[in-house]
Amino acid sequence: AIAIQDLHKSFGDNEVLKGIDLTVLAGEVVCVIGPSGSGKSTLLRSVNLLEEPTGGKVLIEGIDITDPDIDIDRVRTRIGMVFQSFNLFPHLSVLGNLTIAQQRVKKRSKAEADKVARAMLERVGLAEKADAYPGHLSGGQQQRVAIARALCMNPDMMLFDEPTSALDPELVGEVLQVMRSLADEGMTMLVVTHEMGFAREVGSRLIFMDGGHIVEEGDPREVLANPQHQRTKDFLSRVL
Ligand code: ATP
Ligand code: MG
Repeated sequence: AIAIQDLHKSFGDNEVLKGIDLTVLAGEVVCVIGPSGSGKSTLLRSVNLLEEPTGGKVLIEGIDITDPDIDIDRVRTRIGMVFQSFNLFPHLSVLGNLTIAQQRVKKRSKAEADKVARAMLERVGLAEKADAYPGHLSGGQQQRVAIARALCMNPDMMLFDEPTSALDPELVGEVLQVMRSLADEGMTMLVVTHEMGFAREVGSRLIFMDGGHIVEEGDPREVLANPQHQRTKDFLSRVL
């Protein structure tokens, strides 16, 4: 589980997160929506300390990762992260991309890492692309490789930051399908997305952020059909 308690984050005198409280329980899929600049990415990046909070706490499975004595690299290996840009190594094959961290961080043998990588490629529907280079794959395929790469580390939870926003519309579905199957398998997921259909159908909960606050949260169907706050209504009327 992820427990975020009164999380604050400032860049200089720009306070971007103004006291966020959010818990994601094991197996939950929590989707986050909100206008550009509302702090969604900063929130996600704070969960694995890519951004250092300026106040509050983040507990991962009960461990306070803001505690300076914690081994953050060890915590990070339990959290998979997928970004809008796929960040694959262009000079490595798909298999190379999927095995490098397994060997370096998990200390797996080449054979073992290959085996895990091929299993994860199978899971995202790209078993036949093991030897391809990222530049020869479509955006949707590259993003599925990025998801498979994260899964190779056997994470307990996955963070997604607008994983389909950089994709051509016709490639969005294949990535959402992989995310949906992960959710069905019980993966704990925190997902920043503009895909309201995904949020509605897959999300256990929907969070609307604005101005560094959680303005509204609840059952995705409820929030989307019947938003309670004016700011949520305004946002949804613009995006739906
Ligand atoms: P978008 O929908 O456009 O991705 P977002 O909700 O993810 O927006 P953030 O990326 O979290 O928003 O940014 C929130 C605010 O924090 C913005 O005003 C941004 O300029 C600022 N910010 C983010 N990262 C940094 C940084 N490294 N240094 C300074 N300011 C930053
Ligand atoms: Mg963002």
